[in-house]
Amino acid sequence: MADPEAPPLAAPLSPEEMWRQAVQSQRGFQSSPSSAADAIRQRPATIPPGAAAGDKGPKVGKGFETFAGVQVLDKDGRRAAFGADFFGGGGLDEHAEARIVRGLEKNGPAAVQHGRMIVVVETDCCPSCEARLTAYAQRKGLREIEIHVPERESLREAGKMVTPKTASTTSLMDTGKPTTVRKLRSISVPPPVALAKLDAFRITLLNQVNFYSSEHQAERQLATDSFVGYVTNRLFNPDIPEMMIWNNAYARLTAVERELRHENVKGAFKELVLARLQYLRALRQYLTWKDGIEGAGTAMITAICAVAAVLILGAFALAADAIGTALTGLLATEQATATAAASARVAASLAQFDAAIASTAAGGETVGLRIAQIEVETAVDEYVEIIMSR
Ligand SMILES: [Zn+2]
Repeated sequence: MADPEAPPLAAPLSPEEMWRQAVQSQRGFQSSPSSAADAIRQRPATIPPGAAAGDKGPKVGKGFETFAGVQVLDKDGRRAAFGADFFGGGGLDEHAEARIVRGLEKNGPAAVQHGRMIVVVETDCCPSCEARLTAYAQRKGLREIEIHVPERESLREAGKMVTPKTASTTSLMDTGKPTTVRKLRSISVPPPVALAKLDAFRITLLNQVNFYSSEHQAERQLATDSFVGYVTNRLFNPDIPEMMIWNNAYARLTAVERELRHENVKGAFKELVLARLQYLRALRQYLTWKDGIEGAGTAMITAICAVAAVLILGAFALAADAIGTALTGLLATEQATATAAASARVAASLAQFDAAIASTAAGGETVGLRIAQIEVETAVDEYVEIIMSR
């Protein structure tokens, strides 16, 4: 896992190192003194003066305090950020993890796509902290959160483990039992819902393009490789389209994937609409050759339903809602009206395009189809502008 090329600060710390450096030593140095015993915090790794052989030594820090360290790793396992803090009293906002999340939001990276978060904490995260860590991870593109806690065997009962908090507060005592760090659990972070829906639509569309372009490729093979095929196709279907008719759809789908990777909902939505237009255009050309004009019309209606525009619109509206609500809360009536109008225009333009492509003769370019496509592009541009600027 360690990358020899990584700059020193990008070298990841093991959970054990995180515990030693960020949790145990923080407890040693940062908790507020409350008794004579706490003086040991000044020298957490030394034997206190006057200690006799066999002394167990004092507990360090107060039990209600909770220390935590959080490390963010990128997809290659390099360290992208590190934070450490502690809970010394107060509400949920003051929990160590909540404080660390605020620090990381302020000083940490903007995005760490497909990264991972390692949390080392003295006691399992509470639901509030877990929600905050998950929301942070989701915003940054992280996919997994690991929670690690300290562990030590009980002094009285062999084989039984003390609580992580006890293991931590007594870790500087000479108990004769080692304190280790173990992974308690993993949380897999779901991608934001809207992105997941847009991605699901991308896959549906990609499968359709793959399906028809493979069939197209096979037909071409037949037409050129076999004499019978050649003659048949020459006689009845003289102009088999070139494979390049699918290129635009593939290029747009690649763009969708790139935008989704950057979690750019706006860009992904726009490219997805355009990918769908390019796919339907190519399909129209291919089906017209294969099934003739009549047959192509029917087949097109089925194909259009398989990639219904309402699916993309739904995913995008969801994202826009989430973003809009997060930014400004409730919309002003005027803005809400403009948004609804823009969204209706997109839906109408897509319906118009779908109707045009299902009825265009011979897969050819007609004025109606060209106008319908321009209208879709304009409506989508307007929609993303209005909805994302609110
Ligand atoms: Zn908490």
